[in-house]
Amino acid sequence: MVAEIISVGTELLLGQIVDTNAAYLGRTLAGLGVDLYYKSTVGDNEGRILDTIARARDRADLILTSGGVGPTEDDLTKECVAKVFGEELVIDAASLEHVESFFRRRGAVMAPRNRKQALIYASGRPIDNPNGTAPGALLEKDGKIVISMPGPPNEMIPMVENHVVPLLTERLSGERQYLVTRVLRFAGIGESAAEHDLRDLLASTNPTIAPLAHTGEVHFRLGAKAGSPEEARRLIEPLEAEVRRRLGSHIYGIDKTTLEDAVVALLREHGRTVGAVEFGSAANLSARLGAVPGADEIFLGGILIPNAAAVCGWLNGRVSRELSGAALSEALALVARERLGADYGVGIAAQGVGRSSGEAHISVATCGGIDTRENHFVGGAEAIRRRSSQIALQMIRDSLLDA
Ligand code: ATP
Repeated sequence: MVAEIISVGTELLLGQIVDTNAAYLGRTLAGLGVDLYYKSTVGDNEGRILDTIARARDRADLILTSGGVGPTEDDLTKECVAKVFGEELVIDAASLEHVESFFRRRGAVMAPRNRKQALIYASGRPIDNPNGTAPGALLEKDGKIVISMPGPPNEMIPMVENHVVPLLTERLSGERQYLVTRVLRFAGIGESAAEHDLRDLLASTNPTIAPLAHTGEVHFRLGAKAGSPEEARRLIEPLEAEVRRRLGSHIYGIDKTTLEDAVVALLREHGRTVGAVEFGSAANLSARLGAVPGADEIFLGGILIPNAAAVCGWLNGRVSRELSGAALSEALALVARERLGADYGVGIAAQGVGRSSGEAHISVATCGGIDTRENHFVGGAEAIRRRSSQIALQMIRDSLLDA
């Protein structure tokens, strides 16, 4: 089964709201093993909605629309679906009662135009909407399924969970395919280097492997489709083994595991502690470490300083107010180790953050000495701070794995 998603609403085109419905529907369809080749966003314009629906009818078996089923003149979705499919719209008595009772309960009089919300496709049926006034509308015609749903996510999502997923599961029985995905998360290797090492695997179609770039790290999503989840997982296994054979040391986690989760787990496993003193990074490393459940056992503290002078007195004169760059990050790493009593003392000295590029020195002090990396970053402040903490976490991970 091939699906297409159509999100209707000019506010989506203007960027006033983000199309979270389409993302949710995409995830849901993927979970059902339904192919999704296109999703479209269209404004509240009759001609363009008609075009979008007609195009979807020609290339998909299932069309899911969200938005444009309200009471106003520019709510046109059901009218357009009806035109494209040569279908009448009729008032559904139970839905009309639901709309009217919605107003009655609020002590309000229903405006005549709200009757429009109770319209459904003549040969179709309504889909319950306990969280709003307008029902969803289902049409099955000419071998196609169209499901028109309201835009508000708190109305659309329960409708999908309670009605659309069961309906599709039933329609798919027999041909139902399960898509299983597994995300491998990499640290310490850039997207192009990783892609280069895996380039022959990227052409595979089932299972598939595709890169996903994130700030400071790259992930590869492995996916496979089969008649059962177990079979799909079996298809992924040899591919994952091959990726691990080539780049295993860079893989720090799978699926939702973050780099800070992985580093905290490694520190606990090795019985080691960490502390951080940060300058110019808005305590990004400390915030990331501190947010990991169970980090309190190994994270001894984080200090954010406004300038070098703030820590001048801390190491018996070994930090001076003039320090900058590598000398500053190294001094901060020592402060973290000595003042916080941590096995891994991390110092971050980020400069130029707040502009579109910056440099950061990141030092990790251990009983064996200090390792320092200098990095020049481009991107906004948030990205620079995150990349700095990312490198610090990688340095701790590398050191723990070498130990
Ligand atoms: P209503 O009956 O409330 O008018 P509707 O189906 O006509 O619903 P719209 O008027 O298009 O829906 O959108 C109503 C609200 O729903 C939007 O202001 C927005 O908050 C939310 N919404 C609409 N479409 C989306 C979407 N694709 N993703 C996330 N939220 C959305």
